[in-house]
Amino acid sequence: MKAIKLLFISMLMVSFSGFAQEAEQAEEPKAEEHYNINKFRQLYQEFSTPNQYRSASGAPGPKYYQQRADYEMDIRLDDENHHIYGYETITYTNNSPDVLDYLWVQLDQNMRAKDSKTPLIEGGGVAPFAQPAGFVGEYLSEPFDGGFNIKKVLDSKGNPLKYMINQTMMRVEMPKALAPGKKFEFDIEWDYNVNNHVEGRGRSGYEEFPDGHRAYVIAQFYPRMCVYNDVEGWQNSQFWGRDEFALPFGSFEVNITVPEDHWLDGTGKLTNRKDVYSSEELRRYEMAQRTYDEPVVIRTQQEAEKLAMMPGATKMKTWKLKADYVRDFGWTSSRRYIADAMAVKVGDKDVMAVSIYAPEGNPLWEQWSTKAVAQTLKSYSRMTFDYPYHKAISVHAKNQGMEYPMICWNYGRPDAEGNYSDRVKFGMISVIIHEVGHNYFPMIVNSDERQWTWMDEGLNTFVQYVAEQDMGENYPASIEGLDAYPSRRGPAAAIVPYMAGDQRYIAPIMSKGLNTYQFGSNAYGKPGTALNILRETVMGRELFDYSFRTYSQRWMFKHPTPEDFFRTMEDASAMDLDWFWRGWFYTTQFNDMGIKSVDKFYVSADMNQEMKDYLEERNIPKDRVPQLVYMVKEGSEDYKEEMKGKAPSEVVSDLKDYLMDNFTAEQRAAMKEPKYFYQITVEKPGGLVMPIIIEYTYADGTTETATHPAEIWRLNDKEVSLSKATQKEIVGIVIDPKLETADIDTSNNSWPQEPKVDKFEEMKQ
Ligand SMILES: [Zn+2]
Repeated sequence: MKAIKLLFISMLMVSFSGFAQEAEQAEEPKAEEHYNINKFRQLYQEFSTPNQYRSASGAPGPKYYQQRADYEMDIRLDDENHHIYGYETITYTNNSPDVLDYLWVQLDQNMRAKDSKTPLIEGGGVAPFAQPAGFVGEYLSEPFDGGFNIKKVLDSKGNPLKYMINQTMMRVEMPKALAPGKKFEFDIEWDYNVNNHVEGRGRSGYEEFPDGHRAYVIAQFYPRMCVYNDVEGWQNSQFWGRDEFALPFGSFEVNITVPEDHWLDGTGKLTNRKDVYSSEELRRYEMAQRTYDEPVVIRTQQEAEKLAMMPGATKMKTWKLKADYVRDFGWTSSRRYIADAMAVKVGDKDVMAVSIYAPEGNPLWEQWSTKAVAQTLKSYSRMTFDYPYHKAISVHAKNQGMEYPMICWNYGRPDAEGNYSDRVKFGMISVIIHEVGHNYFPMIVNSDERQWTWMDEGLNTFVQYVAEQDMGENYPASIEGLDAYPSRRGPAAAIVPYMAGDQRYIAPIMSKGLNTYQFGSNAYGKPGTALNILRETVMGRELFDYSFRTYSQRWMFKHPTPEDFFRTMEDASAMDLDWFWRGWFYTTQFNDMGIKSVDKFYVSADMNQEMKDYLEERNIPKDRVPQLVYMVKEGSEDYKEEMKGKAPSEVVSDLKDYLMDNFTAEQRAAMKEPKYFYQITVEKPGGLVMPIIIEYTYADGTTETATHPAEIWRLNDKEVSLSKATQKEIVGIVIDPKLETADIDTSNNSWPQEPKVDKFEEMKQ
């Protein structure tokens, strides 16, 4: 076996030197250029330099630090006027080695201020069509005034602090600079008009029902500390409405006062459950804590509907919530709410999966919401770490899909008669999985959403796909009549239309979301699919899952950057993936490979033309060449009459003589006896480098698949040739037979080429 290999290698060397000469004549890039554009070079220029804060391994460094912001808040909801009043005390801890001259606070609601600059950066002109409400908002009415009214900013002694508001950011000046290790406590009092999120969009607000009652999903409702870290300093990049948030961890103690007939829930532990639940609700809640298979209804539809028929309470009630190790706080409140819950085992702990919805959500919500929450907690915990909080709530809010720690808003509503399509059902289950999944990214693995949308949306879309497939298996009723859960994003083939699209509207994943077209495909679909391909096709599940868990656990309750992710995936797997990150995350290139040619070779003892040319050019006498085995291409000049009709290996007897002379019978018996020799030339019109997955079909109908790692493209980015020796004749070859690599054009993937189907003819038939 070895001897035969050696012979093939000498043959290869000859052909390679021939290739090198050809390349010199053509206008190929110079060596230096070649190495500068090589797709396998390391990402040293693109990556930040590892340091004491962030190690080259992708783990937090020995001097890693993060700031802390603790909040105490009193919030009051004026339901009648949809207005919120708030008072907060922020205790900010400077764990950085830097002296801070001032603090930056985020005023996200100012995006809705009358003088907001958000509408002024839209350069798309007149939209050809609009929702009536959007049209009214844009052209007919005064802009809604939803900005923060900041009434007071005080130090802990009650003295006013100097502050300056620049759009959605507020700079607060302290009496003296904040030294490393020191805390600063200050108070802010504010109020604002809550927006109608159904008419005006947005990540929070209220929906008003025909009966005049409202459901509130409330977030970004308080002045929130900016992140200060080793990467950005203050992350005070403005909130224009798209790129989400960057927030430090801390604790929250929040008292929320709402009309006494409201049902309320939010981030954190409810510390006065006995004061706000009826005794019957308490009894049902305790039952839910012991129920693991079906949700237990805590506040029923009849109870919610009865309250909705009344004018609404004027007396108020205060709900007290307390949370630790969260980066944000969200809450929901309405008198029209139904609530159900069940327990989920996560590791050795019980977590409560909770759903809150208006009767409009049924019968869909009572059936699927809490089960989808439970599946999310199980699947995500398996892929990352055990869910560390005590509950996860899914709230039904029309047109919403938005996440906060322990609570999220989700769409999916049947029609007025309670009917719904599969599209509505799977859309609802998927958005719940997605938004509950955001507890992991970015609520716990706390990346900077303002800068890197893909770090939470892309990673989350990937795990969402895994959880959806689990959902289909564990709750088969959810996929009745289908082979698998119909995931919209994740499978490689689903990203092809985007990657094959007009390059003017495609940005690299490593772009700020605000600055990209096709935001959903850019920051959700493509990175989610890239990770799925990385797992299934490039790394394999074992290596990928270990590395992905390592990343999740290293950065749980910390602030990772893209490099921390890229580096950890390599550090934990021993795979150099720089080529993958470069192609998928830093460029807009797509994958397209095709079979250029398939040649059959015969083994011959007669010197072939290539060898003759080689010797002639170097003035080497032919008799100086030792006996070699020559490969003769079928149909070439060297291809002779005597070869026709024979198996390619039967042509030369010298090889048999050589084997007889040099090997024992036993050794010969252990050797393979390939009869057919092929060269398959794969061309790559696409810019992306990807593994070549190639499936051979033999004359007897059997198939064999081989995967050539992407590194096969390291020396020639345009085309490569594979050699294949087989016992059986090959009758068909397909590249990427299972559509795993997002190849944008599969019409060139088969040999012999499949006849082109005339789409028009096909339709006619
Ligand atoms: Zn998301």
